[in-house]
Amino acid sequence: MSTFQAPKGTYDLTPPRSAKFLAVREAISAPLRNSGYGYIETPGFEDVNLFARGVGESTDIVSKEMYAFETKGGDKLALRPEGTASVLRAALEANLHKAGNLPVKLWYSGSYYRYERPQAGRYRHFSQVGAEAIGTEDPALDAELIILADQAYRSLGLTRFRILLNSLGDKECRPVYREALQGFLRDLDLDLDEETRRRIEINPLRVLDDKRTDVRKQLVGAPMLRDYLCDACKAYHEEVRVLLTAAGVVYEDDEKLVRGLDYYTRTTFEFVHDGLGSQSAVGGGGRYDGLSEMIGGPALPSVGWALGVDRTVLALEAEGVELPIPAATSVYAVPLGEEARRVLFGLVTQLRREGVATDFAFGGRGLKGAMKSANRSGARFTLVAGERDLAEGNVQLKDMESGEQEAVALADVSEVIRGRLSAPGA
Ligand code: AMP
Repeated sequence: MSTFQAPKGTYDLTPPRSAKFLAVREAISAPLRNSGYGYIETPGFEDVNLFARGVGESTDIVSKEMYAFETKGGDKLALRPEGTASVLRAALEANLHKAGNLPVKLWYSGSYYRYERPQAGRYRHFSQVGAEAIGTEDPALDAELIILADQAYRSLGLTRFRILLNSLGDKECRPVYREALQGFLRDLDLDLDEETRRRIEINPLRVLDDKRTDVRKQLVGAPMLRDYLCDACKAYHEEVRVLLTAAGVVYEDDEKLVRGLDYYTRTTFEFVHDGLGSQSAVGGGGRYDGLSEMIGGPALPSVGWALGVDRTVLALEAEGVELPIPAATSVYAVPLGEEARRVLFGLVTQLRREGVATDFAFGGRGLKGAMKSANRSGARFTLVAGERDLAEGNVQLKDMESGEQEAVALADVSEVIRGRLSAPGA
C-alpha cells in the first residue's frame, strides 16, 4: 500500500470486478442505442447556478451534497451531482431542439459526485448511465423510457427489481396540492425535528419521502396528490400506465414517490431492488416539463432517467448473477530463450493486428511461472517456443481446454489459431 488511499466515500474499480461495470454500462445503453438515442458527453463540472436553479436550492443535493468551489479565475463551479441539468443545458447550447427533430433523444454515461454520508451502496463518487428525451409531451415517450430501463435490467438477468410509479401533477394542480399538504403538515401538533419543519415550508412533498418510522406514522391521513391531479394529468398518467401494461411491464403505483429533485412534473418512477438494504434505489427518473424554462430556455417538456451503475452491480451480486464476461485473452505466448522471445513477440504483434486478443509472458520468467500466468489469463491457446522448435520452424500450440499440444509451422500459426477460435463451439 502507498501512503495514499482512495478518498473517503470513493473506491477504485480494478480487474476482474471492473469488467462488470463495463458490462453494465454496455447493457444499460444497448436498448437506448437501439431506440434512437444519441450519445452525449458533458463536462464533469458546471456553473454552480445551473444546479442551484435546475435541481433546486431546497434539495439535499444542492444544499448539502454539492462539491462547489471557486476557481483561481473566480468562476463558481460545482462537480456535477446529476446528469439531467447538464444534458439539457448542452442540448440548448447546441440548439439541438431547433434542428426540427423532436424529441431530442440523448443518452450518457459518466461519473457523478455528491458529498453524502458514505455507506454500502452510497458513495461520494458514483457512476450513472442516463437517458433524456427532450421537447415532447407524449405519454408513449415516458412509457418508452421505463420499458427500455426494464429491458436493460432484464437483459442483465436481474429479476428482483420493482418499478414504482407515480404522477406529481403539473403547474396547475401541484401548487393546489402543495398548499393542502403544507396545511396538514403545519397542523401536526406532534414533535417534528427542525429540519423537517423547515422542509414543510420549502419543499413539503419531500416530507412524504421521509423514511423514518416516527415521521411516517405521522403522515397517515395526509392529503394525497392522486386526489388533486387535474384531468389532463390524470389522463396522461392513465395512458402511461396502459402503455406499460400493454408492453408487459409490471409496475406498482406508489403515491408517496416524490424523488429528491425539484424539477419533476407528472410521471415519476423509481427502480428499486430488494437485495440492497436501505440504498435500494437502483435508478429513477421522470418528466421535467418546467426545467428548460428554469434554466433560461424555451418551454421544452421532457422526460428522462438515470440508472446507477454501482448499485446495479451490487444488485447483480446480491442476486448471484454471473455476467457472461468473455476472457480478455485468447492466446498467451511463452518464449523460452532470447531468440524465441523475439520471434514470439513478433507473432504476438501480428495476431493482435489481426484482431486476436493476445498476451505475452513478459519479464523472461521460467516455463512454470509463465504457464501459470497463461492459465490465469483465461487464454484458450498457449504458444510455447524454444530453440529446438525454432530450429525446426515451429511453435508448440497448446489447447488449454483439452490439454492437447502440437507443433505448428510458424508461418501457419496465425491462420490455424484464427480458424480454431472462429470454429463453432470455440
Ligand atoms: P438520483 O438522481 O438520486 O435519483 O439517482 C439516480 C440513481 O443513481 C440512483 O437510483 C442510484 O442508483 C444512483 N445513485 C445516486 N446517488 C448515489 C450515490 N451517492 N452512490 C451510489 N449511487 C448513487
